[in-house]
Amino acid sequence: MSELERAALLVVDLQNDFCPGGALAVTDADRIIPVVNWLLKFFGSRDLPIFLSRDWHPEKHCSFREQGGSWPPHCVRGTRGAKFPELLELPDKFEIISKAVEQEKDAYSAFQDTGLRDLLKEKDVQTLYVCGLATDVCVKDTVLDALREGFSVYVVTDAVKGVNLSPDDSRIALEEMSSAGAEMVASSDILSL
Ligand SMILES: [Zn+2]
Repeated sequence: MSELERAALLVVDLQNDFCPGGALAVTDADRIIPVVNWLLKFFGSRDLPIFLSRDWHPEKHCSFREQGGSWPPHCVRGTRGAKFPELLELPDKFEIISKAVEQEKDAYSAFQDTGLRDLLKEKDVQTLYVCGLATDVCVKDTVLDALREGFSVYVVTDAVKGVNLSPDDSRIALEEMSSAGAEMVASSDILSL
């Protein structure tokens, strides 16, 4: 149980627009939902803190192509695309971390201008188990920030999916997180903790 002492689960940006059928779909993103549901149950039943981050953009957000950004419009707050997938089984207790809420600022990391660091400190969290979307964008930046902030980080490798604009992007991102100090763990290994 020691690895789970002072641990928390962080689900990054598992939202409709990043799932198949969404505005910025990550291939096979929906396949991680059963694994994330299992993680939610696992952490919830042990009364460990759970955080779900979400992109929560205003309508004319700077990351959208029409505004000169890199992405199609996605995760506009209040729309279906910004919601968590219906198949996601939300626990009784969790906190939502909304990010990139200002028109002129984008944020890939769940730590950027969200207060997440302080929330984790308040709850005396030392170790973060990270899953969600996308491996090579927001998961990566979130994990690197968490390490910089001094947290121990486990990336749940069967509960993340990447955009893979280039086919190797996810692999490279996982290597980058690993070199920065993150541990890679499969959900099945968590069961034995
Ligand atoms: Zn976004």
